Amino acid sequence: MYGIDETHDASLRSWVDSANEAQTDFPIQNLPIGVFRRAGSQDTFRPGVAIGDQVVDLLAARDAGVLKGEAAEALQGCESGELNRFMAQGRAARLALRHALSAALRSGSPQQAALQPCLLRQADVEHALPCRVGDYTDFYTGIHHATAVGKLFRPDNPLLPNYKWVPIGYHGRSSSLGVSGQVFVRPQGQTKGAGDTPEFGPSKRLDYELEVGAFIGTGNPLGTPVGMEQAEDHLFGLVLLNDWSARDLQAWEYQPLGPFLAKNFASTISPWIVTMEALAPFRAPWTRAEGDPQPLPYLDSPANRRQGAVDMALEVWLRTPAMAAAGQPAERLMQSNFRDAYWSLAQMVAHHSVNGCNLQPGDLLGSGTQSGPEEGQGGSLLELTHGGQKPVRLANGETRTFLADGDTVILRAHCQRDGFRRIGFGDCAGTVLPAGKR
Ligand code: CA
Repeated sequence: MYGIDETHDASLRSWVDSANEAQTDFPIQNLPIGVFRRAGSQDTFRPGVAIGDQVVDLLAARDAGVLKGEAAEALQGCESGELNRFMAQGRAARLALRHALSAALRSGSPQQAALQPCLLRQADVEHALPCRVGDYTDFYTGIHHATAVGKLFRPDNPLLPNYKWVPIGYHGRSSSLGVSGQVFVRPQGQTKGAGDTPEFGPSKRLDYELEVGAFIGTGNPLGTPVGMEQAEDHLFGLVLLNDWSARDLQAWEYQPLGPFLAKNFASTISPWIVTMEALAPFRAPWTRAEGDPQPLPYLDSPANRRQGAVDMALEVWLRTPAMAAAGQPAERLMQSNFRDAYWSLAQMVAHHSVNGCNLQPGDLLGSGTQSGPEEGQGGSLLELTHGGQKPVRLANGETRTFLADGDTVILRAHCQRDGFRRIGFGDCAGTVLPAGKR
């Protein structure tokens, strides 16, 4: 697993003042990576690391001599704005970059003068997907989501018999993945009609799904499964993922092969990948409730039992057009924790590859919707509104059963534990436009 070292020391401070603020998502202990360019420019995207409200331009830092040796070599092949080559190198390259940046950014560093000109304000940049995502797979590890949604369809038998044995998933589509700030048109398609024929038109039950996305670092050759003991070595880091879903399209199309057009019109991720190293202090035991089946041996390991879960607080926020017009901030709809996932990240990797399927650097694995165990902790509107029966009431008097045109949904997350600095993920925001408008 991932060790804790001096880069996690809670007393570390940065000469970037905003990185020392208590509520920043990006203290010097985080150092998440993404790609950026000056907002509105036609520049090539470049690799960068978030620190406070700034971005470190990594290529500029390399050219300025701040990143040397292994840390400089780690960036080779990433000049085009795709991090796949860096991701493929695995943990050693990430550690080299993390240690070099931690040293250069801390208070009193002799490198401050050389690194200072390599910083830009986050407010002045825009992002792209951090890598070429060859394949995107969406799992279904949120048992509270699976149960709540199952209840809507099968009140007496919400969980299907395979759920507690198989990490359920399906192959999604990577071409419609976008980064925070993504705007997309309301999808249209077939929905079940009143009689024997379907209706056609814009989705009336457009929803979000609160998920965690895991990026694969090192891949595995076709035909060579990744065992549980090695599974974490293949993970690069985590982002937030909104798996936008058209519930009415989904209900009509999902049998017998599962989700298709209800899910592949847009999926939004947060711009900064929080590395597995940054998450090391926030790992938690993975447990299986008494009376539930224990996992098959290929999905079990002592390390996974010890710290296979991630203690990561998750939130969904909504900003309606009326709130935006009135200058009101977004309103929080719910909170849950990734710790409650039924299957761990390592189990997702081990299961995905057990048949010999090859994972590649930059592949994205979605966790499935992460709902909490309590009422009001649904990770989608489908759950919060009980299938559209019980509207959510907002502070300004508006209500929602499903998303309205112009709505912006923002996912947020942070990790917090006594003795360590709080780290966050930044916003994962997306906005729905009216059908047919672009
Ligand atoms: Ca999903």
